[in-house]
Amino acid sequence: MSGKKVILLVIGSTLLIVLGGPYLVGEVILRPGARERGHLLACQTALIRLQRCLETYAREHEGHFPPDWEALQPYIQALDPEHPRQLCPAAGTPTYRRGYQVSPDQRSCTVVCRGQNHPGVPADFPRWSTREGLQER
Ligand SMILES: [Zn+2]
Repeated sequence: MSGKKVILLVIGSTLLIVLGGPYLVGEVILRPGARERGHLLACQTALIRLQRCLETYAREHEGHFPPDWEALQPYIQALDPEHPRQLCPAAGTPTYRRGYQVSPDQRSCTVVCRGQNHPGVPADFPRWSTREGLQER
């Protein structure tokens, strides 16, 4: 290999690393984390929408939360018709339906994203409850 070819090879390799490095870091390292973070934020947003439905139900029922998830459905349809199935974006399934718990006197309730759906976040999180509000972990 001639000296000229070696120099071109070195310049080419350097350019590839300098220009391609940040691109590869963005694609390989940052992007998967950003996608998971986006799913988590969307899941938290879904919980906040459900909070609005639950609080509206309670206002119309003398401070009592729904006895079960089915009782909340008309409120979800009315207040959040864009998201009638209430799917966690990470799980792709209706994790909140399975994660709804109400106290025996129906004065407090909790909605969790049921299962291990978000990398780096414990199972059954995020969640919203009347006592703790929105919790990521
Ligand atoms: Zn979720």
